[in-house]
Amino acid sequence: MTVSILRTLTEMRAVTKKWRAAGERIAVVPTMGALHQGHLSLVKAAKAQSDRVVVTIFVNPTQFNDPKDLESYPRTEHQDAKLLEPLGADVVYVPDLDQVYPDGFSSSITVSGISDGLCGAGRPGHFDGVATVVCKLFLQTGADTAFFGEKDYQQLQVVTRMALDLDIPITVIGCPTIRDRDGLAQSSRNLKLTKNGRVIAPVLYQALNATAADVQNGAVVSEALSRAQADILAAGFAKVEYLEMRAANGLAPLDTLNQPARLLVAAWLDGVRLIDNIAITPAG
Ligand code: AMP
Repeated sequence: MTVSILRTLTEMRAVTKKWRAAGERIAVVPTMGALHQGHLSLVKAAKAQSDRVVVTIFVNPTQFNDPKDLESYPRTEHQDAKLLEPLGADVVYVPDLDQVYPDGFSSSITVSGISDGLCGAGRPGHFDGVATVVCKLFLQTGADTAFFGEKDYQQLQVVTRMALDLDIPITVIGCPTIRDRDGLAQSSRNLKLTKNGRVIAPVLYQALNATAADVQNGAVVSEALSRAQADILAAGFAKVEYLEMRAANGLAPLDTLNQPARLLVAAWLDGVRLIDNIAITPAG
């Protein structure tokens, strides 16, 4: 069955009104398109837990702090719709720009604390853009559940907090990171790596795992992180933007592993910014 593509809020609301009247539970999977197995895993999880699934594709200009990054972001709408068909997605919502940002649009949502540091430090304004557009997509689709990847762990925390703070009646569900066989987290940005860069890139995941093992074996956290940073640079990355251990819930900085935590990294390779993170829990 061909999946329908909707481009206006009026069309979107007409569809969800019918579903709601029939008592159906609606899930939304927000994306920026250029879909890969990571995105598709969210759609599969959504389908398994809901009656209806809306996949949104919107390359949100307000969350890009670099105009070149926005311009070069891959757009593969036709191919995306084809990938979604066999998964049973009901609708692909690809709103026109004015359906999200009508003339005179002046509002912005800031989720303070969780948005600071990590990706928030390197990408000023990014999480305000994310929180605002995700809030709009929650309200526009009226979904009961929303599926996000742990791959963007800080984003998952920001949107969870935002929905809670603003009383949006939606449950945010985090799904595990999908990786290539060599451990590299799948990302639309991986396509921009050179052949050699693609060979080096899995070092990021290896360094996270090595750090987790070190820390669980009693290493001093700052020393384990420094070793991992050196390994990433030695492998050929140009820069490590951050490599940190944070509390899994709320992302407070941690210097000892005394609660469920997350190791998070952003690093540059071939002019491409790659991010990854893994869970780390106190041994025993
Ligand atoms: P994006 O299109 O990059 O904005 O991502 C849309 C959603 O897909 C977000 O919730 C991401 O966290 C999620 N996602 C991206 N890559 C992966 C991956 N490798 N595994 C699981 N989820 C992912």
